[in-house]
Amino acid sequence: MDQKRLAGVGNIYANEALWRAGIDPSREARSLSAEELAVLRRELQTVLTASIAARGTSFRDYRDARGERGSFVEQLAAYGRAGEPCLRCGRRLVGTHAVDGRSTVFCAGCQY
Ligand SMILES: [Zn+2]
Repeated sequence: MDQKRLAGVGNIYANEALWRAGIDPSREARSLSAEELAVLRRELQTVLTASIAARGTSFRDYRDARGERGSFVEQLAAYGRAGEPCLRCGRRLVGTHAVDGRSTVFCAGCQY
């Protein structure tokens, strides 16, 4: 979750990319292998591309310039789903603020 390495990546997208990559958000960036970094980079691109295609992640009353809601929130697998079952392994997702003070949601069953 270190934003110095994932420069400018929103918290929502970092949560999603880490879940998709199967990487524990509490890990230090320097502990990741080259392969893990490559997977994380690829998943981040996938998440950002999907979000743009869905006009972003609207919560509450946000609308884009054409007055339409973004629908990416419907595709979120981790962020905002604390306590709900992991879509990959079925274990209850954990929500914490212990990683860097912001809301982090992850699966203790399949992110390591
Ligand atoms: Zn899981």
